[in-house]
Amino acid sequence: MLIDDPPRGVPLSLGTGEFFQLLRDREPRTRADLVAITGQARSTIASRIDALMSTGLIAPAGMAGSTGGRRPATFAFQPGARVVLAVDLGATHARLAVTDLASTVLAASDEPLSIAAGPDVVLPWVVRAGRDLLAAAGRDTADLAAIGIGLPGPVEHSTGRPINPPIMPGWDDIDVPGILGAELGVAVLVDNDVNIMALGEHRTAWSDVSDLLLVKVSTGIGAGIIADGALRRGAQGAAGDVGHMSVPGADHVPCRCGNTGCLEAVASGRAVATALAAQGLEAADSADVVALVRSRGTAASQAVRQAGRDIGGVLASCVSVLNPSVIVIGGVVADAGEHLIAGIREAVYRRSLPLATQHLRIVTSRAREGAGVLGASAMAVDHALSPAAVDALTA
Ligand SMILES: [Zn+2]
Repeated sequence: MLIDDPPRGVPLSLGTGEFFQLLRDREPRTRADLVAITGQARSTIASRIDALMSTGLIAPAGMAGSTGGRRPATFAFQPGARVVLAVDLGATHARLAVTDLASTVLAASDEPLSIAAGPDVVLPWVVRAGRDLLAAAGRDTADLAAIGIGLPGPVEHSTGRPINPPIMPGWDDIDVPGILGAELGVAVLVDNDVNIMALGEHRTAWSDVSDLLLVKVSTGIGAGIIADGALRRGAQGAAGDVGHMSVPGADHVPCRCGNTGCLEAVASGRAVATALAAQGLEAADSADVVALVRSRGTAASQAVRQAGRDIGGVLASCVSVLNPSVIVIGGVVADAGEHLIAGIREAVYRRSLPLATQHLRIVTSRAREGAGVLGASAMAVDHALSPAAVDALTA
């Protein structure tokens, strides 16, 4: 899992970093295999193998089967050579994991942490917790290859800076990679929480699917887009912000963004909780909504189903644009069970063209609350094992 297929159409002159990508599937291969795959000279392959062996990224992996004569040695990617720190920060929680380079979790923690405490509190906490977790995994900062971190707000991916994040006071334009990188000495990749969830869900549960939309329904609503097998962030990192697409007939409902009629204003966990509270029910947030549905509250079930229809109406437009083969519904409100997803399916199938929905599956998250941290790991690993990073390591 978590490994892309080896690239097709291998270039004639293959640098060490590009060559290494062939081995990321963890399949043991002989020198002769690698000569056959790449079309490169045996001496070139031997020097690439030596360079990668010196980094620990590959190691001998036993002898290949043989039809006769001496059995040739094989080499394979060693995911344990380095580790990454994966961090999923939510509004009120911090999930951390130290994983190997195949995103296998070696140590993990889940702590309450308020993002609203600001970067001066949260980032030093992440550094301390990260060091503790490395120690718990029996590794130290020298083993660290990169850090991946998800934040609950808009992030300019190229700089790793949050941009006007509504629930993150004090974080606007903060240089998260600079601050964490100075402490831990490695590259830091930052993205919003929904994008890392999409990446985590895709790599762990749907790696055979190339077009997937992950929709997080909790206090807010957002989506992460996997198209042609890769996460698509758009020009500034704002792609997938479906929470502020407009819902027909909701023009009178104000949204926290300043507009009216946004999907988030009518169908988020917070919006449903507010509507239920207006009916005299005890509901302040998404978790209360889920609890009411689970206690077989008819009003809550109906409200969640209607929220599903509203979300489905907007997703039908997304289906027309992106033609995904899977829509994964995650976030706290997805825990309300079938009501949400039934409402979503109803609207999507009614409003999309048959060709787009013929093989479309609409399902709840499989990776669930682990999706974010696994996605943060995948983002960090992809950076650490990129051709350029491996070339730098072997230069
Ligand atoms: Zn809005």
